[in-house]
Amino acid sequence: VDPNTQTPANTGPPPLTPSGDRVNATFVTLARNNDLWEIAKSIREVEDRFNRNYHYDWVFLNDKPFDDEFKRLTSALVSGKTHYGLIPKEHWSYPEWIDQDKAAKVREDMKERKIIYGDSESYRHMCRYESGFFFRHELMLNYEWYWRVEPSIQLFCDISFDPFRYMVDNKKKYSFVLSLYEYYETIPTLWDSTKKFMKANPQHIAEGNSMAFLSDDGGETYNKCHFWSNFEIGSLEWLRSDAYIDFFSSLDHDGGFFYERWGDAPVHSIAAGLLLKKEEIHFFNEIAYYHVPFTHCPTGEQTRLDLKCHCNPSDNFDWKGYSCTSRYFHINNIPKPEGYEKEAN
Ligand code: GDP
Ligand code: MN
Repeated sequence: VDPNTQTPANTGPPPLTPSGDRVNATFVTLARNNDLWEIAKSIREVEDRFNRNYHYDWVFLNDKPFDDEFKRLTSALVSGKTHYGLIPKEHWSYPEWIDQDKAAKVREDMKERKIIYGDSESYRHMCRYESGFFFRHELMLNYEWYWRVEPSIQLFCDISFDPFRYMVDNKKKYSFVLSLYEYYETIPTLWDSTKKFMKANPQHIAEGNSMAFLSDDGGETYNKCHFWSNFEIGSLEWLRSDAYIDFFSSLDHDGGFFYERWGDAPVHSIAAGLLLKKEEIHFFNEIAYYHVPFTHCPTGEQTRLDLKCHCNPSDNFDWKGYSCTSRYFHINNIPKPEGYEKEAN
């Protein structure tokens, strides 16, 4: 039986995981001090639906020092240990090969063209940091697995199993709950850079990869499909591998984080799609998630009842036209969750 269809929710709620069975894993959040009240809501959701039974640690990262109020409240809310890290300047600034005047002109131009976050300098540092550095922050080196949490997210169902344990036991390296098409204007040359990398580094391209998720013409062009990286559960060891680091460095030298507005979502997704075997990427139907403006509500009424979900299934984005999730099922040749036809409209 394909492990993708053998998810714990289909077999009834498993017993609580004794802490001795925990994986070497942490939650990780990049945030500013003024994100406090929105990240507080996210933590409350994660704790109530999952972590109060597991007590995993939580790492907070910031390009400025966290203030005491931020530390006090988040430490009170998280049931595991909390750690607060300052991002080193080298990871949140311009590399020497970037022409900063050119970058500033791009921001001006994107502002006029009203491209989302197109005029923001900090957003670009954030995307570059999430693409290439968070997993090598010294606090993260203590862990093998991460779960990314952003401010203002919601979890609509109980998480009745340990997703970290699931990743380990099923040899998964990267996972997602929502996928969609990227705005072309933010990544016009990302695929050119990717092809250049592939040509120079054939040894890093996995056999049996997910190229068909990313491209409709065998790799000639990018179809803009990506996993939405504000939710991610994944392997830090994979991100720290030569393959991933070489990919990131190659993209970073091409300059598109600053000369365009490359997001960490397409960067992680292209990496997962090409550097991992397709079986190593997992879709968590059971994890019900909201980040403005999209909802993943689990397909299958029994699953939603078992997990005490309160999302409206008609809000589920998975089977709508702008989602790439059908494509994921198709290229992996796995059946869509039971109830999909009924709920897909
Ligand atoms: P969006 O989801 O693409 O609209 O972007 P967000 O505003 O949610 O930012 C993505 C993540 O990066 C969130 O966890 C933010 O808290 C964090 N973030 C964004 N900009 C900054 C920044 O300038 N400094 C820090 N420390 N965190 C940031
Ligand atoms: Mn966000």
